[in-house]
Amino acid sequence: MDNNEYDELFENYRDYLKFLTIKLDSFFENQKEYIFCKMGCAKCCKNAEFPFSLIEIQYALYGFSKLPDETKKIIEENLTRVLEEKKKFKGEKFLYTCPYLVNNVCSIYEYRGVICRTFGLINKVTEGNPKVPFCCFEGQNYSNVLDEKTGQLSSKKVKELGLKEEPTGFNVSYEYLTGQTYEEVFEFSFGEKKPMIEWLED
Ligand code: SF4
Ligand code: SF4
Repeated sequence: MDNNEYDELFENYRDYLKFLTIKLDSFFENQKEYIFCKMGCAKCCKNAEFPFSLIEIQYALYGFSKLPDETKKIIEENLTRVLEEKKKFKGEKFLYTCPYLVNNVCSIYEYRGVICRTFGLINKVTEGNPKVPFCCFEGQNYSNVLDEKTGQLSSKKVKELGLKEEPTGFNVSYEYLTGQTYEEVFEFSFGEKKPMIEWLED
């Protein structure tokens, strides 16, 4: 594919990504008193499934194609290692470190998937309790208001710290953000969805 063909393929998806970025930036800004993400943390890029749709993996691979050869080589080595682990894996849900993670930094940041863009926020699911990010329990996002005894976020701590916003969950579920509504509004299709590693082993 030449550049024009790529531009055509990704035109509407890029519009969606611009919209998504504005939306998620406003959530992160609203919750900034609880967000402690910093370059080199990247725990959220490890030990997970990473659902990706067809358009997302195509975009990630496009990002990969633009990388310097030495970075590509590291990613290919990462991928080989993950695929070997996957072959030996006997359970139901294979969790792995994303092959695009190089020196604890996303090598395809601009081209990363939708799920990657939501890491660190509280996911307000439609049923049940909002899902606090796992890193809250590892001293990161929202850990400043975590009650260690109950494992819940504490309004008392919010008051004691004089924080302006309550910890708030938003609907940042992968299913919602990659749902039909957005496909219709932005006139593109996400296509099939499956764990990233299953795209990369094809
Ligand atoms: S694509 Fe980038 S942000 Fe997403 S899981 Fe992989 S390394 Fe992390
Ligand atoms: S979301 Fe959590 S694990 Fe990921 S970079 Fe931010 S603080 Fe680290």
